[in-house]
Amino acid sequence: MKIGVIGGGQLGRMLALAGTPLGMSFAFLDPAPDACAQALGEHLRGDYNDHEHLRRLADDVDLVTFEFESVPAETVAFLSQFVPVYPSAEALRIARDRWFEKSLFKDLGIPTPDFADIQSQADLDAAVAAIGLPAVLKTRTLGYDGKGQKVLRQAEDVVGAFAELGSVPCILEGFVPFTGEVSLVAVRGRDDETRFYPLVHNRHDSGVLALSIASTAHPLQALAEDYVGRVLKQLDYVGVLAFEFFEVDGGLKANEIAPRVHNSGHWTIEGAECSQFENHLRAVTGLPLGSTAKVGESAMLNFLGEVPEVGKVTAIADCHLHHYGKAFKAGRKVGHATLRCADMATLKARIAEVEALIEPA
Ligand code: AMP
Repeated sequence: MKIGVIGGGQLGRMLALAGTPLGMSFAFLDPAPDACAQALGEHLRGDYNDHEHLRRLADDVDLVTFEFESVPAETVAFLSQFVPVYPSAEALRIARDRWFEKSLFKDLGIPTPDFADIQSQADLDAAVAAIGLPAVLKTRTLGYDGKGQKVLRQAEDVVGAFAELGSVPCILEGFVPFTGEVSLVAVRGRDDETRFYPLVHNRHDSGVLALSIASTAHPLQALAEDYVGRVLKQLDYVGVLAFEFFEVDGGLKANEIAPRVHNSGHWTIEGAECSQFENHLRAVTGLPLGSTAKVGESAMLNFLGEVPEVGKVTAIADCHLHHYGKAFKAGRKVGHATLRCADMATLKARIAEVEALIEPA
C-alpha cells in the first residue's frame, strides 16, 4: 500500500519509519528541496496548491494523510476528489483555526479559557474589557511553537497589538494560571475503535516543547479521555489526534488540538507497545489498532538547532537517539531522544544526563 503524505518533515519521516515494516511505501509532497522525509520515500517537490503535483500524488497513492495542519483547505478538497484523505477536510478545517477549535470545545462542554474573535484593534479593546488582563492574543491560523501570539499583561501591551500580529484574524484568550501542561494522544480507526495513550506532562521553553514525560495512572486520565472522545466522535475522526490541556484547579482546560501525530507522542516509539506513528497508519489504512500501553517509564527531550554529539547521546543508558538529518538552524527541531527506564527515579537521572548535553538556547 502506498501512502501520500502532505509535508515531508520529521513527522513524515517517522511515519515512514513505522509504516515500512508494515509493507507500506511513501510519497511526500513538500516544496523544500531538503525535506528530511525524502530519505524514506519519494519526494514530490512542489507547492501544496500545485494541482499538477497534487493530481500526480493522488494517482500514485492509495490514500493521503498529512503531517501538519496548515495545509490549505483547497488542497485537501482537491485531493479528496480523487483519493481518500484522512483525517477529513472538516477535521482539518476546525483544527487549523483557533476560533473554530475553541468554539467546538465550548459546544461540546469542554472547559477552555474565555475567548473572543478579534478582527480589529477595536475588537481587541472590547475583548480585553470583557475578558480582562493578563490575556493571550493569538493568530487564528498558522501559529505554532509559540509563534503568532503575544501575552498582554498590562494596558500598554494592548495598544497596537493587533497590528503587531500582522492585522490578521486573531483570538483573545484569558491567561490560564496553569499548574502544568499535559497532552493526550488518541487514535481512532475507521470503525470507531478508539484508544488513548497515557497523559503526558509537557514542559515548554519559550513556547517550544522541551520535555515530555509519560504519566502512570494520572488522576485526570479518565477526564481527558472523556473530553478527547467527544471531539473524536463529533469530527468522525480517523487517525491520531493530539489534545493539549492546561492543568488548573485540579481539572483541565482545553488549549488546542493537532489533527496529526504530535511531538508529545514521540516517546511512544520506544515507550509504548505500538507507537503513535504506527497507530496513525493502522487507523487510516483500516487495520486493527495496536496497544497504546506504556512499556516502562518514558520521556522525550527535543534537540533544537543541532543534535548533540551522537557518541555522547548514545553513551547514556536507556537512551534512544532520533536524528532527523536536518541542517543546523537556530531553534529548529532537528532531533529528539527518548528515554525508557525501569523506574521513575532512573528516568529522572537520565533526563538530567541528556539535559547536560543540550546547549542553553
Ligand atoms: P499554543 O501555541 O497555543 O500551544 O501556546 C504555546 C504555549 O503558550 C502553551 O504551551 C502555553 O505554555 C502558553 N499559553 C498558550 N495559551 C495560553 C493561555 N491562554 N494561558 C496561559 N498560557 C498560555
